Amino acid sequence: MIVSMKNIVKIYGDNTALNNLNLEIREGEVLGLLGPNGSGKTTAIHILCGLIGKNSGEVTVFGMPQDTKNLKTRQQMGLVTQEVTVFKDLTAKENLRYFGGLYGLKGAELEANIKEVLEFVELTDRANKKPGTFSGGMQRRLNIACSLVHKPKFLIMDEPTVAIDPQSRNHILESVKKIAARGTTVLYTSHYMEEVQEICSRIVVMDAGRAIASGTVDELIAQIQHEEVVRLTALAATDVLTRELEEIAGVQSVIVNGNEYVIASTVGTGNLNRILETAQRHGGVAGFNADKPNLEDVFLTLTGKKLRDEEA
Ligand code: ADP
Ligand code: MG
Repeated sequence: MIVSMKNIVKIYGDNTALNNLNLEIREGEVLGLLGPNGSGKTTAIHILCGLIGKNSGEVTVFGMPQDTKNLKTRQQMGLVTQEVTVFKDLTAKENLRYFGGLYGLKGAELEANIKEVLEFVELTDRANKKPGTFSGGMQRRLNIACSLVHKPKFLIMDEPTVAIDPQSRNHILESVKKIAARGTTVLYTSHYMEEVQEICSRIVVMDAGRAIASGTVDELIAQIQHEEVVRLTALAATDVLTRELEEIAGVQSVIVNGNEYVIASTVGTGNLNRILETAQRHGGVAGFNADKPNLEDVFLTLTGKKLRDEEA
């Protein structure tokens, strides 16, 4: 266990940002912290890093109690902040020298690490340029490089892909996979479920300052017992077909609209073949599709809310 956060409460004025948050992170995992804006992800990270205090609860990092005075744990941690926090007046390389220096790196080791991280984020050809000339995605990549230059054992990334171009986003997602493959533990926060689904080995779902569910994607989906939905167009809708569909094991409901059938089943019943075979026997199938529930459905079921605001 690299991190343990127990019953963390953080209150701002009359706003409870964290309401008894419990979170554990195991060595070597890529843990996705998934939650809508305002659910407390950044606050949790800042407490975890010892950047801000808490009202109550206990945090340990690498087995040591974490607080705002503990500098030891931070040597082994890297934080990619939600907002890009590089110096606009320093070149990419000078930024890396600065951040590396904060961690006590110097001389040949620092220069070797700088070269390595610049290659890693594919900014070698921009090493001597100032970030003001970079695209948003490149600035984010430099921000990531600054958090990696001291080779942390534990990397925390706070929404590193918000508002960037798809190419930089893919680059960042691939980078996380490579970082994890080297054995670095990663905490990745996002409100994009597709990303979390792609790169994380385990997910904690946050809402209103607490962890409301955790597990692999499959485990979370199994947890909600959500329906699997088959949409089927029959060549001829009949009452007999409807009744026979309703009798198939696992089928919870059949809704008929013209020749369209919407058939909801519990997960894991594996009854798709029986549904199709039944429809074939009663005149034939013009088309069908089967939808698996996804993390968005998990979130909707657990909270009654959508994970992100509709984006324009
Ligand atoms: P997330 O990162 O999931 O979007 P945050 O941790 O930033 O969520 O915020 C959680 C809640 O705490 C929000 O209601 C936010 O407005 C509030 N909050 C965060 N930081 C502060 C602060 N410095 N002062 C007052 N309220 C804050
Ligand atoms: Mg945040």
